[in-house]
Amino acid sequence: AKDMGRNAIRFFDPEMHAELETNYALESALWQALPKHELVLYFQEQVDEHGTPIGVESLIRWQHPEHGLVPPSRFIPLAERSELINKLGRWVLETACQQLAVWQRDERTAHLTVAVNVSAKQFHQPQFVEEVLQCLVRYHIAPGRLKLELTETLVLADIDDTFDKMKVLKKQGIIFSMDDFGTGYSSLAYLSRLPFDEVKIDQAFVHRAGQQDSVRDWVIVEAIIGLAHNLDMGVIAEGVETLEQQQLLASSQCFRYQGYLFSKPIPIEALESRWFGSS
Ligand code: C2E
Ligand code: CA
Ligand code: CA
Ligand code: CA
Repeated sequence: AKDMGRNAIRFFDPEMHAELETNYALESALWQALPKHELVLYFQEQVDEHGTPIGVESLIRWQHPEHGLVPPSRFIPLAERSELINKLGRWVLETACQQLAVWQRDERTAHLTVAVNVSAKQFHQPQFVEEVLQCLVRYHIAPGRLKLELTETLVLADIDDTFDKMKVLKKQGIIFSMDDFGTGYSSLAYLSRLPFDEVKIDQAFVHRAGQQDSVRDWVIVEAIIGLAHNLDMGVIAEGVETLEQQQLLASSQCFRYQGYLFSKPIPIEALESRWFGSS
């Protein structure tokens, strides 16, 4: 009877019920977010060893009328439960390419790359390649400027499909970055087989850098950097917050960084006034 009581309580857990309801409400509001123009792309600089921007990563935000700025960790998983993620993904790609086209026409920014995060469901839908190619044509994107960030989950969902799509897109000048590298289980096995241009060291490793008990973690980071170099891939570290982390990475031959030490993700106006001064 005791057990039954416990189960019953768990089943009718009001907190859980409230959370489900919130998710449901949030998901239906999310369907309206695009037509209501509540989605915004923020951009975060990626810099070289001198702190000079070499590109930006686009990071989506939802400006909810009541809840304020909703982080992607809160709504991307909801969108991934349905076709909605494809709509959002298409919007991100389109918006990023639009911005890229503007920067391409300005000699001060023409060299910059723009990175876009791709969700697994979006990538593996049949029209994905076609949609990217259409964007390249529509915005006259030069080769080597648009970067797609893929995660291990995406790759492992269907390695053959990943390989086929990467091959076609690389021919058209798309750059590929392996996001959150080092957090998965079998990354090493496929990294050599897929045509990635760059490996992105996960911030979990970067944040532990220099801490007392992190020596063994750092061995992994150095192995990742060495592996990337041996496979002729670039390597960038994300989540770099301190000078010490940057210096440790540099001493291990990683010379590209992204993180709060350089800049947070910010809206386009803030980014451009940072680069060019406000006019
Ligand atoms: P991610 O792709 O790994 O992006 C890096 C996250 O780390 C971003 O969080 C960024 O704001 C944060 N970050 C950057 N530098 C630092 C730092 O120095 N310290 C700390 N603590 N954090 C830092 P954000 O913007 O909240 O995005 C979270 C995740 O949401 C992203 O992780 C990505 O998986 C997903 N996401 C964001 N935008 C999109 C999108 O347009 N499409 C898809 N499918 N997913 C997206
Ligand atoms: Ca990313
Ligand atoms: Ca990442
Ligand atoms: Ca991540």
